[in-house]
Amino acid sequence: MPTYKAPVEDVLFLLNDVFQIERHNNLGSFADATPDLIEAILNEGAKLCEEVLAPLNRTGDLEGCKRHDDGRVTTPTGFKEAHKAYGAGGWIGLAVPPEYGGQGLPYTLQSVMEEFASSANMAFAMYPGLTMGAIAALLVHGTEEQKSLYLPKMVEGTWSGTMNLTEPQCGTDLGLIKTKAVPNGDGSYSITGTKIFISAGEHDLTENIVHLVLARIEGAPEGVKGISLFVVPKVRVNSDGSLGERNGVSCGSIEHKMGIHGNATCVMNYDGATGWLIGEANRGLNAMFVMMNEARLGVAIQGLAQSEVAYQNAVQYAKDRLQGRALTGPKAPDKPADPIIVHPDVRRNLMAIRAFNEAARALVLWTALQSDVAHRSEDEGERQTADDHLGLMTPVLKGVLTDLGFDNAVRAQQMYGGHGYIEEWGMSQFVRDARIAMIYEGANGIQAMDLVGRKLPCHGGRAVMTFFNEVATFCQENAADEAMKPYVAPLQAALGHLQQASLWFMQNAMAKPDNAGAGAYDYMHLFGLVAMGYMWARIAKAAQAKKAQGNGVAAKMDAKLVTGRFFMERMLPETGARLASISSGAEAVMALPAEMF
Ligand SMILES: Cc1cc2nc3c(=O)[nH]c(=O)nc-3n(C[C@H](O)[C@H](O)[C@H](O)COP(=O)(O)OP(=O)(O)OC[C@H]3O[C@@H](n4cnc5c(N)ncnc54)[C@H](O)[C@@H]3O)c2cc1C
Repeated sequence: MPTYKAPVEDVLFLLNDVFQIERHNNLGSFADATPDLIEAILNEGAKLCEEVLAPLNRTGDLEGCKRHDDGRVTTPTGFKEAHKAYGAGGWIGLAVPPEYGGQGLPYTLQSVMEEFASSANMAFAMYPGLTMGAIAALLVHGTEEQKSLYLPKMVEGTWSGTMNLTEPQCGTDLGLIKTKAVPNGDGSYSITGTKIFISAGEHDLTENIVHLVLARIEGAPEGVKGISLFVVPKVRVNSDGSLGERNGVSCGSIEHKMGIHGNATCVMNYDGATGWLIGEANRGLNAMFVMMNEARLGVAIQGLAQSEVAYQNAVQYAKDRLQGRALTGPKAPDKPADPIIVHPDVRRNLMAIRAFNEAARALVLWTALQSDVAHRSEDEGERQTADDHLGLMTPVLKGVLTDLGFDNAVRAQQMYGGHGYIEEWGMSQFVRDARIAMIYEGANGIQAMDLVGRKLPCHGGRAVMTFFNEVATFCQENAADEAMKPYVAPLQAALGHLQQASLWFMQNAMAKPDNAGAGAYDYMHLFGLVAMGYMWARIAKAAQAKKAQGNGVAAKMDAKLVTGRFFMERMLPETGARLASISSGAEAVMALPAEMF
């Protein structure tokens, strides 16, 4: 059975040495989050994930969720107790303001816990993950009454949350939503319609489920401009917070699907259910975007998380499995064969996963820190820059980390040979679980279009120019440093490719939008490579500084430096191919008439 060890040490290195988290002590509760406290929190979270969630991962996959004839849905053995422990440990409310029962700590720490939990048990982690997303939307757009009614119970894990967007005829194009909301005359609405693919839509983990539902108020305009967001509890809540009557919402069926079997994916029927508006009428997408953006980062983290846990197990297997001899002569002459980790092709795969994991984790933490700045800084300029960063990086992280997270789960499975294809080794589950992250929360092709069509031109390209300047400045400042040359020179070249691709879009996509559509996916990956390259350059700089201080960390820092060099030499050059692909334009993509396919 696979095992999991949370990468606490790597996270601490990133927070303390690369991003110097103490620089943010002017932000709300950051000053309270001392290095000792952060370490203690992460160790505690790691323990829960390693000892409680990870052992349930395979059980969840094998048992799945069951819908009973009366519409109840039960989750796999052990999930209920684990969810109780997760809520009681304060993990759901880690970053929620104390007035609603949370701990008010940085969101950055929540994002770390999301990685640990998703590595340990992705299907389980989605339950509290969705609750955290719903809390975020209510915090920003809910009324005081809604917040005090729902948030404390959600924070403690007694109630959970969901997001209801998708309908049979409406996936990517939310303008097609049909679910109807009719005013009841008392401030509430009667919600009727069918939602499909609703994660955690029904289950037995909590006493109540708080559904956030997109619906169209009777007479509202067509398209996305007529969509509103409603809070629809499974059990109605009395004004004193106690549970009242059952609401008109039920689970019609659950899906049998490729992975995340422990998470119930439900068809939800709203049959005149009572709901209350969140935020303004017809501005529902705006309100739901808070939840969607949080969820997109959460999904990006799922990609990293599956890559990390698959890597850890593949490394162990590669050290144990004896096959063949090293090309340079036996490395374990006392054994019938060498462990497969001696083979360059096995190492190539393991290094590629490792180089991704560490850079992707850095990208997640860098972005999570920007989210904290965007929400907590008192300086308007700082907030704006951080918000720009979030907007720009969210589609990049969602698309790139989930694509490569899946690729890496496959690479790790490959290290097992035929055993990787056999369920009991657990590698197949990582592959199956990782696959969905590329699809939901906006399929990755849509993330690419969001990046190129909306985020690049936004505010005259302000966000992307800030990113280019930051990377270019780093390169200039470190170009003369001999030890940094192996990192800076490839990064400069890759940044040049990204700038050329951006210019190409400016010159070729305005008049011919297909040029943008056809190149967007390559651009998203080109962007992700440069962003990860920048992370590696910063990691290398911090690793060199830490190594110079002594303290017996030289071997660990050398491991980072060599992994960074692998990224620069063997992964970053892909930017050239991506640029070539983008600048070939849309012609060959669009030339074939549909009937010729
Ligand atoms: C396991 C699971 C859990 C889910 N959980 C939830 C949940 O909790 N809540 C919820 O609301 N939904 C959920 N979903 C739904 C999910 O978000 C949608 O499936 C997803 O957004 C895509 O919608 P669709 O399936 O209708 O595909 P479609 O929108 O039909 O898209 C099909 C393909 O066409 C592409 N495409 C569509 N339009 C364009 C375009 N304009 N340009 C380029 N390409 C385009 C897409 O990228 C995709 O590859 C879940 C789905 C699954 C499978």
